[in-house]
Amino acid sequence: MNQEFTVDPSRLVSPDALPVDAEEVTLRPKTLEDYVGQEKAKGNLRVYLRAAQQRGEPMDHILLYGPPGLGKTTLAGIVAQEMGVQIRITSGPAIEKPGDLAALLTNLQEGDVLFIDEIHRLSRQVEEVLYPALEDFALDIMIGKGPSAQSIRINLPRFTLVGATTRAGQLTGPLRDRFGILLKLELYSPQELGRIIARSAGILGVPITEDGALELARCARGTPRIANRLLKRVRDFATVQGDGTIDGETAIAARKWMDIDELGLDEMDRSVLRAIIEMYNGGPVGLETLAAALGEESVTLEDICEPYLMQMGMLTRTPRGRCVTRLAYEHLHMPVPRRFDEEAAGQTSMF
Ligand code: ADP
Repeated sequence: MNQEFTVDPSRLVSPDALPVDAEEVTLRPKTLEDYVGQEKAKGNLRVYLRAAQQRGEPMDHILLYGPPGLGKTTLAGIVAQEMGVQIRITSGPAIEKPGDLAALLTNLQEGDVLFIDEIHRLSRQVEEVLYPALEDFALDIMIGKGPSAQSIRINLPRFTLVGATTRAGQLTGPLRDRFGILLKLELYSPQELGRIIARSAGILGVPITEDGALELARCARGTPRIANRLLKRVRDFATVQGDGTIDGETAIAARKWMDIDELGLDEMDRSVLRAIIEMYNGGPVGLETLAAALGEESVTLEDICEPYLMQMGMLTRTPRGRCVTRLAYEHLHMPVPRRFDEEAAGQTSMF
């Protein structure tokens, strides 16, 4: 395979949690006031929380969806905190058997929040057990086998399920229908990420200027987890290279040192664009084909690279596959094919 297209799986700008994110817990906002951005989701949640508190009932079940690292776990923690209840955190792949789920559910207290990350990865059998738990707060358990088998019903405390998924489309219909509240999390703007970085710097005791925070924010591909990770890396850089303060200049120097360009693209993003241009003439190319050419998992490309490249206007998804845009050619300083000029001319002549 072409060496130029190989990529590092532990990339600095991966939105998935890595061992370096161990300090994340201290940086997690505990209240809705501290939770920066996501105004729409926050506004809705505020109303639902107030209504549940006034009725003295647990919150309805909530489904949070959006790319990794945008604050789904954090938001689930805030719901529990605001309702004054405990939160239990688990994930779809960790609940292997119906018995695992039954053990989790029977250990909940009245009103508790159960957070299931990657809920689209629950097995069918586990999902079947979850339905009556969500609807009637009950577990149906089969005892015995054959003709003498009996089903008994165990009542559960009323709890709130907060499910998180990066791909709402992969959730089965019956499961999706059991959530009363669906909240979509969006990528953050550089200004919002700048505020998150300034807040985290305050907690970590790292001196940072407004320019420094904004410069870092621009490289965080819309994701708070990456913003916090960059902050920690640049903190070390600032300590070694300067007086420890992160200003605009240090942030730019650190970004270059980490090989992240001025639009926040790293080597993997650039490899994706270059591969589509050089191997597939700018596209369209199917996701699986592209992933195989890059030696990457297709989910990595789909969850990590694509949302940001699409937000930056460099990549489009078409029914026939992925295509790069004119901007991608320009950004990589590659000659723009004539067809883009022809398309542009065609569009102007239409009006
Ligand atoms: P997800 O569950 O979506 O993968 P997390 O909730 O684990 O993401 O968030 C990753 C990190 O990003 C958290 O440690 C938190 O510090 C930070 N974070 C996420 N969203 C926000 C936000 N809106 N405001 C401030 N920090 C945030």
